[in-house]
Amino acid sequence: MNGMTRRERQVTDINEILKILDNSKVLHLGLVDGDEPYVVPMNYGYTYENDKLTIWLHCARQGRKLDVMRVNPKVFFEMEYGITPFEGEVACKYGITYSSLMGRGTAEIIEDVETKKLALSALMKTQTGKDFQFEDRMAEVVGVVRIDVIEFTAKHRPLPKELR
Ligand SMILES: Cc1cc2nc3c(=O)[nH]c(=O)nc-3n(C[C@H](O)[C@H](O)[C@H](O)COP(=O)(O)OP(=O)(O)OC[C@H]3O[C@@H](n4cnc5c(N)ncnc54)[C@H](O)[C@@H]3O)c2cc1C
Repeated sequence: MNGMTRRERQVTDINEILKILDNSKVLHLGLVDGDEPYVVPMNYGYTYENDKLTIWLHCARQGRKLDVMRVNPKVFFEMEYGITPFEGEVACKYGITYSSLMGRGTAEIIEDVETKKLALSALMKTQTGKDFQFEDRMAEVVGVVRIDVIEFTAKHRPLPKELR
């Protein structure tokens, strides 16, 4: 991906990156539908193993995003948390704090029930912090998508020093 403007805001500490993944809760999934972009907000789960980030999504078993990714599995995603607007003396000193993560990867619709159960557990862990187990039947009726993340970047905009 391109180098980041405002490089001083780039986050490279993996613990800070995992915090963004734990706290954001909603991911904006970018797809390419023919020659048009298509963006869908979704809840997600993640696993981070052996330096590899995997994102898990659940959804109905049909719909536009699945149709699009069957044709073109390339995706881009963004998530953020820690959104706090702040004020300044002039308009250009107003702003907002955030921590965000963006990345690209490939999407695959998962059919294997055991993998789907693991995906749903990862999703519930990310969303609630709790451990949930799933029966085969529960996994069979939902769609599950795995995103193999190829690369990602993270960024943090803190409160300006004078406001801390
Ligand atoms: C905070 C949040 C979290 C969500 N979490 C999930 C999740 O975890 N799993 C999940 O499956 N869905 C989730 N949704 C709903 C999701 O955004 C889509 O509506 C849904 O997944 C259907 O997408 P689709 O591509 O199959 O659209 P389809 O149902 O096939 O819809 C086709 C058309 O409907 C319109 N449309 C679809 N979704 C939206 C929308 N959200 N807002 C406005 N117009 C829309 C668009 O014009 C689209 O072209 C969430 C939505 C929000 C806002």
